[in-house]
Amino acid sequence: MPIATVNPANGETLKTYEAMGEEELERRLQLAEATFRTYRTTSFAERARLMHRAAELLDGMQQDIGRVMTTEMGKPVKQARAEVAKCAKAMRWYADHAEELLADEEPSDFDVKDSGGSRVRVRYRPLGPVLAVMPWNFPLWQVIRFAAPALMAGNVGLLKHASNVPQTALFLEDLFHQAGYPEGCFQTLLIGSGAVDDILRDERVKAATLTGSEPAGRAVASTSGEMIKKTVLELGGSDPYVVMPSADIDRAAQVAVTARVQNNGQSCIAAKRFIVHKDVYDRFAERFVEGMKALKVGDPMEEDTEVGPLASEQGRDDLEELVEDAKRGGATVLCGGHRLRRPELPGWYYPPTVLAGITREMRIHREEAFGPVATLYRASGLDEAVLIANDSPFGLSSNVWTRDEAEVDRFVRDLEAGGVFFNGMTASHPAFPFGGVKRSGYGRELSGHGIREFCNITTVWHG
Ligand code: NAP
Repeated sequence: MPIATVNPANGETLKTYEAMGEEELERRLQLAEATFRTYRTTSFAERARLMHRAAELLDGMQQDIGRVMTTEMGKPVKQARAEVAKCAKAMRWYADHAEELLADEEPSDFDVKDSGGSRVRVRYRPLGPVLAVMPWNFPLWQVIRFAAPALMAGNVGLLKHASNVPQTALFLEDLFHQAGYPEGCFQTLLIGSGAVDDILRDERVKAATLTGSEPAGRAVASTSGEMIKKTVLELGGSDPYVVMPSADIDRAAQVAVTARVQNNGQSCIAAKRFIVHKDVYDRFAERFVEGMKALKVGDPMEEDTEVGPLASEQGRDDLEELVEDAKRGGATVLCGGHRLRRPELPGWYYPPTVLAGITREMRIHREEAFGPVATLYRASGLDEAVLIANDSPFGLSSNVWTRDEAEVDRFVRDLEAGGVFFNGMTASHPAFPFGGVKRSGYGRELSGHGIREFCNITTVWHG
């Protein structure tokens, strides 16, 4: 894939970039290693000062970078600005909490003399340069949720961003530079995915985090495995959204629309499979379809657009093929279901779509629909709802609508996912751990769990 900005709203190539060559990459790796040697010794107060400064700068650039993101990957510009604001918030959260999250721990529940010593504690030390391989769908947020904790922990970052968001990638390097970080603390490597393997094998790179698809995760994890390097993987999702009879059905249907189409439907934690108790199925389906039909599809630069184009032509082809496969298998199309033909929207648009009558044989039952396409399932009761929800290779997050406390306990116990969100939609927050199980990956981002992933958890024992 060329490294280029191609506007998904009209297919126009706006800017192309040369990938960095071997010499430039070597220079950047040397710089990362050298910078780490000193940056690792900085105090939390100094790191927090820099992080606050970067957050302040980012706030001031919300409009401009929001428009760049929309131009590169098509998200509605209002959502792009909200993403920028969320990044600044996470940066401040880590600036304010990192010291406490990484404070030395002294085990309190044992007598230290049992170990033959006089004192023992745990110190969280940084690992070194960490490679972040990131996707285009939240081009700023995915990077910041890695970078803010990594930098606060004393690591340095090397970013390999998705090839279709080079301007956002370069903006990030510049942001940290302008905030006053030492050169080499955060560098963007303009490279294609084929160049990742060599970087991972380089001894100076100590660990890697990847957010993206399963094949990319497998490639990075297997090389890192060979090299015995720590990885965090945030991969795909096909989150269930379960609606039980005690829920506020109208509200559940209203939130379901946003949960499915946020970011033009291209979010790993978007609800994708809607599993509804038979007693409330008809009402939910009616309201949900009404909501999906009412969405304003259009130019993502317009303030009132709710659904813009998909980020790439390939992405739209893949989504369309999933829908066609379901239709061939007998799925019912409740709305959408075929490519938009509106001359004023020449880009890679696909309409909000709801499919019912899904069977296990359909690809869409087990694959991730990365676009505004929802599948509806009818469940006879809680047991069947859990069975359908867990009948997926993925296990990122999950949503359940119920007011019944006994049901809450059952869902928390039984859903195979890294999160269970009741009476609302899944959203990430700097204070909560984020990540999945099964083929959605492993490890956690955000919160104390996230910042400790790339630390050397060191036992310090005194005789
Ligand atoms: P992708 O094709 O896997 O790309 C993600 C990143 O991996 C890009 O930087 C890409 O570089 C790189 N890459 C691709 N193949 C690679 C390989 N073999 N070796 C090394 N790097 C490789 O995914 P995407 O299409 O951008 O993003 C969509 C996927 O990401 C969806 O499955 C979505 O659910 C998942 N996602 C997960 C989370 C989460 O937190 N769990 C969040 C957001 C998205 P190039 O662009 O140069 O190919």
